[in-house]
Amino acid sequence: MQNIHSHVWNQDEHFTPQMIAEAQIARGGEPVDLTVRFDALMQDVEPFEKVVIFGLKARLSGVWVPDEYVAALAAQDDKLYGFASCDPTQPDYVEELHDALEDLGLCGLKMGPIYAGFDPRDPRCDVAYRYCEDHGLPIVFHTGTTFNQAAPLGVSRPWLFDEVAIRHPELRMVLAHVGHPFSGECLAVIRKHPHVYADISAIFYRPWQFYNTMILAQEYGVTHKLLFGTDYPFARGQESIDGLRHVNAVIGTATLPRVSEEVIEGILTRDAFALLGIAE
Ligand SMILES: [Zn+2]
Repeated sequence: MQNIHSHVWNQDEHFTPQMIAEAQIARGGEPVDLTVRFDALMQDVEPFEKVVIFGLKARLSGVWVPDEYVAALAAQDDKLYGFASCDPTQPDYVEELHDALEDLGLCGLKMGPIYAGFDPRDPRCDVAYRYCEDHGLPIVFHTGTTFNQAAPLGVSRPWLFDEVAIRHPELRMVLAHVGHPFSGECLAVIRKHPHVYADISAIFYRPWQFYNTMILAQEYGVTHKLLFGTDYPFARGQESIDGLRHVNAVIGTATLPRVSEEVIEGILTRDAFALLGIAE
């Protein structure tokens, strides 16, 4: 099993107090300690052979995890693959990104348009897209809603990535959380573009939405484009696996369509690293 969406950060160093306070509504009021401790992370990733870890850079929302921090953690265990992050609204972002991808051994990129307040079609992003496309590096985008008051929902919509994929057909992209709650839009985008995928991280704990998203993916025939991720520390590894295996529990004995066993195990066994071209 692989996990292509796990976070590393320290809330006291990398978040503003407002961001920490707002994050507490991420899981419906369950308190979340955002600080990821290395031992706890390694325990959480026990079920997985390969794990992508990243922070996030988004000045607007008060998150800034340096690439060096991610690289240092990734260097501590062979199963961890670190991704850089960038905020294209910041003037020196291109230089920082080149340093991260060329000198720190990071093997992909994480971007959060809603957190940083930019449209994914913004021309300022083109340098990052072109670089990743030319070097075969995947980009994981946060898509769909979030808890921050300042984060503009307008730039969270999955359909915006259709234009990015048309302009950059070889760029490997992952639209995180199947664009929750705009999963229909997200599935429409991944269906069109051979190199655009979605990850199912952090949806299982909204069981009705998760079930409907999976059924919709099945009806559109795009379940082969769904990748497994957890969004740790917002969701844990084993509970995410269990949540997927129990996706049909929400309908009980009702005569409704079911997510097939084949689809569920397909997601859990998919070689996402190969599909995204993540280098060893
Ligand atoms: Zn995330």
